[in-house]
Amino acid sequence: MREIIQEDPKRIKIGIDKTDAFQKKEEASVFSEKVSCNLAKAYDLFCQMAVPVAVVKDIIYPQFQIIYSGQGKNEPRTPLDDIATKKAIYFLFALTLGFGVSKQISNLFSKGEYLLGHLFDLVCSIGLEAFADDITKRYFTMEVSKGTLKDSDIMLRYSPGYCGWHITAQKMLHENLQSSDIGISLTEAFYMKPMKSISGVIIGCNPSKHDFNNNYPFCGRCRTKTCRKRLVVNGI
Ligand code: SF4
Repeated sequence: MREIIQEDPKRIKIGIDKTDAFQKKEEASVFSEKVSCNLAKAYDLFCQMAVPVAVVKDIIYPQFQIIYSGQGKNEPRTPLDDIATKKAIYFLFALTLGFGVSKQISNLFSKGEYLLGHLFDLVCSIGLEAFADDITKRYFTMEVSKGTLKDSDIMLRYSPGYCGWHITAQKMLHENLQSSDIGISLTEAFYMKPMKSISGVIIGCNPSKHDFNNNYPFCGRCRTKTCRKRLVVNGI
């Protein structure tokens, strides 16, 4: 099954408190009036200009193995080597907010509107993740209702370019998904256009599989440790 899902940007929940725009000023309990005003403007721009659309396709384990291997450039040991099994459920996905938002971000910076440009960029990034979370929840609910996953299982996303999965795997992933149907293309360096797009695989399985030891050789260079944060968010 392959599905194209269009979303109304106003339905994507972007919690203002989720913004980490000014992380360095954690002691500030409230945003200044100027920041609040620009944040509201950035959210309005998001509602006007974002065109959220996703393509999702279910695949089986042997198909995932081929796509995951890509051009054979993955790190020798990766989380996905440990997570992916025949028992898991796999969906390839790509989603984007369209070209308009990226153009608007560039326009704001070129006009010298740095605060609004920064906040709009941030709202788009958070909106993109929130949209991806909504899609993940939607497919999790569908699989639970079909009985292919249990309520106690979880679904998480993994993307080429992160955690040892080489970015060159994008080529096969996007060809298989036919993501050009939603306006996504790849640059020669395998980055997505439009810029505000994400892609990868959604894997549903027992939570313990996602709770891997993050002691892979490349983890020492990782600044975000998002794999740990996700476990906390999902209560694992
Ligand atoms: S520590 Fe960083 S690189 Fe290592 S698995 Fe977690 S998110 Fe990936």
